[in-house]
Amino acid sequence: MLTDGYGRAVRYLRLSVTDACNFACAYCSPDRSARCAPGQECTAGELVQIAGALVRLGISGVRVTGGEPLLRPDILDIVSALRALDPRLDLSLTTNGFRLARLAQRLKEAGLGRVNISLDSLDPSAFKRLAGVEGLESVREGVAAALAAGLDPVKLNMVVVQGLNDAEIPAFASLTEDFPLHVRFIELMPMGSAAQALGPSRRVPLEAMMALAGPLEAVPQGDKPNGFGPAAVYRRPGAVGTLGFIAAVSGRFCETCNRVRVTSRGMLLSCLAAPEGHDLLPLLRAGANGAALEEAIRQAVAQKPSGHAFGGCSGARVGAGLGMCGIGG
Ligand code: SAM
Ligand code: SF4
Repeated sequence: MLTDGYGRAVRYLRLSVTDACNFACAYCSPDRSARCAPGQECTAGELVQIAGALVRLGISGVRVTGGEPLLRPDILDIVSALRALDPRLDLSLTTNGFRLARLAQRLKEAGLGRVNISLDSLDPSAFKRLAGVEGLESVREGVAAALAAGLDPVKLNMVVVQGLNDAEIPAFASLTEDFPLHVRFIELMPMGSAAQALGPSRRVPLEAMMALAGPLEAVPQGDKPNGFGPAAVYRRPGAVGTLGFIAAVSGRFCETCNRVRVTSRGMLLSCLAAPEGHDLLPLLRAGANGAALEEAIRQAVAQKPSGHAFGGCSGARVGAGLGMCGIGG
């Protein structure tokens, strides 16, 4: 088992396969100057080698993310190679959904188990303001295709931004009454320049989100949809789907953190707020074998910090300065 210096078991990898994105979300907005130069991005084989070392060390869940992972032309090869690492692996993917309609069935066939789709508004003009592009209809089609393909569960991630989409919380909550969708309301994090430009006053506190989503009843542990995340899960009485709340800033879940992140340039981040990462790609390209890679990962995980301090910092220098689009959320 992989454990950090504080005795926490690390069981979950967020694997970013690209830092490119076709959206420019108001709170994420990819910094194009920070993009990988040609040759800096891991090949599919390199990403799978890193994930393989982590699986051998005891990781049981991998989430493929980005940037926008469905922009990667070899995404189906990556998913099937990850599946081949272990048939029991909890293999999931986070996407903005724009290209999902045409890929959902093939992702399922390649071995993907479940999907999170980021969707911040059900109104076309608010969607455009938040995502930076028109695309609500394509994302809706992506959600329908994910359900039809049997990806399960299908979660919708909504980053709640005061004044931009908080009034839509009740509409998102209503969706779960009739559809087997699992909506996650996420507190805005001060990661990168776009989120910082919005400012802390745009963050909607957990209690306010819950009041708008109600009425709510707690979901017992055994009925919660799969996941490794820190969401507190509820449902509206009689609803098919669930509602989760992720207090990404105000919550104190660092004590139970179980994850590491690997960026598309092969950098392992032991904490979202770590100021620096551990470069695995030079090792791989120098011909390191599996054992050497595992040892480098063990050493990086041993240095995982006890927790983040988003509440008290600007977020400017966290995440190795990469921003959410470079890290993968
Ligand atoms: N492009 C894909 C997507 O949007 O789902 C995957 C990458 S995105 C960086 C992963 C997750 O990070 C998304 O659910 C997104 O909403 C979330 N995210 C990005 N910036 C954030 C911020 N400042 N605060 C909270 N969540 C954020
Ligand atoms: Fe792109 Fe996802 Fe960031 Fe939006 S949240 S800009 S879709 S990486």
